[in-house]
Amino acid sequence: MIVASDNHERFNEASSPTWQQQLSSAIRDPHALCKRLGLKSEWLSGAHTGHTLFETCVPEAYLSRITYGDTSDPLLRQVLPVSDEALTPSGYVLDPLEEADHRPAKGLIHKYAGRVLLIASPNCAINCRYCFRRHFPYSDNSPSRAQWQDALDYLRSNPTIHEAILSGGDPLAANDRQLAWLVGELEKIPHLKRLRIHTRLPVVIPDRIDNALLAWLGNTRLQKVVVLHINHANEIDQAVVEACTRLKEAGATLLNQSVLLRGVNDEVSTLTTLSERLFEAGILPYYLHVLDPVQGAAHFDVPDDEARVLITQLREHLPGFLMPRLVREVPGEASKTPL
Ligand SMILES: *Cc1c(COP(=O)(O)O)cnc(C)c1O
Ligand code: SF4
Repeated sequence: MIVASDNHERFNEASSPTWQQQLSSAIRDPHALCKRLGLKSEWLSGAHTGHTLFETCVPEAYLSRITYGDTSDPLLRQVLPVSDEALTPSGYVLDPLEEADHRPAKGLIHKYAGRVLLIASPNCAINCRYCFRRHFPYSDNSPSRAQWQDALDYLRSNPTIHEAILSGGDPLAANDRQLAWLVGELEKIPHLKRLRIHTRLPVVIPDRIDNALLAWLGNTRLQKVVVLHINHANEIDQAVVEACTRLKEAGATLLNQSVLLRGVNDEVSTLTTLSERLFEAGILPYYLHVLDPVQGAAHFDVPDDEARVLITQLREHLPGFLMPRLVREVPGEASKTPL
C-alpha cells in the first residue's frame, strides 16, 4: 500500500502532462512522424498514401518505445502508414465482422450469448494500421447520455446478459465523468455481474490510469476484467507495468489479446517473450487473433497454416497458462472460432 500511494503522488505531480494533454499533442501528421522517428524520405510518400486512407495518430509515450531510425521496429510497423494500405486484394472488405447486422440499439452490439458490447467511445488514442474498425461508421455509434437509454433498456429487459463489455474505438478515450455515469447505470441492472473493458489506452498512454479512473473502476460492485491489447513485448515498459499495477489494485483481472501480425509478432521467440513479459506485468494471455480481413491491412496477414505451426511450436516453450488461444472471428458464429 505504501508503494501504491507513492505512485499516486508521483503521478499527480503538476509537472507531468495529463493524459488528455498527451493525447492532444499526439503526432497526427505523417511527415512529422517520419521526422520524429528518423525515417528517410523514401518512406514519406507511402506514409502520405496510408494516411489519406486512415489518419495517423501516435502519442509520444508510445513513440518513446520505438528505436529511432529502425524501419523494422515492431512498434513502428503498427503505427506507420504505408503504401501497401492502398492494395485491394479480394476478400478484404470494409466491415469484415458484419457487425452492422447485430445492433439492436444504438451503440450496442449483441452477437454472443450472455454478453454485449457497448461502443463507449468512437475515438482511440492511437491509430493501429491493422485495425478492423478502420472503416467503422463511428459517428452513428457513439451515443450521448440520452441516446444510451435504448441500449440500457435492452440490457434491463434481457436477464440472460451477465456481462457488459466496454469497447470502441477505445472506451477509455471517453472522459471519466461519462464512464462513471455509464457504469453507474450498468451496475443498477441486477442481472449484470461483470464489467469488461477492452482497451489499448493503458499501453499507449499509461497515465490514463489516473485517480479519476480508479475512483469509478474501484467502486463498482461489478466484477472487473480489463482486456489489454498488446502485440509485442516492447510495448510493455515500466510505466505500463505501473499502470497495470494500479488496475489490479482497483480489483481488475488483467488479460491480453494480440493480433498475429506479419513483421510484428510472427515468430515463436517473439510470442514467447510477449507471454513472459505479460505475466511479469500481471497480465494473462487470452486471445491471439488472426487478422480480420479488413481493406488496407492485407500486408499484415499470416496464413492459417503458418499460424497453426507457430502456436504448436509456442506450446513447446510456454506453460499452459501462458498460451493464448488462437482464434478467428467468423461472422454468424456464436463465439470466436478456434483455429
Ligand atoms: C469478441 C466479442 C465478444 C467477446 O467474446 P469473448 O469470447 O467472450 O471474449 C463479445 N461481443 C462481440 C460482438 C465480440 O466481437
Ligand atoms: S486501439 Fe484498437 S480500435 Fe483503436 S485503432 Fe488500435 S486496434 Fe483499432
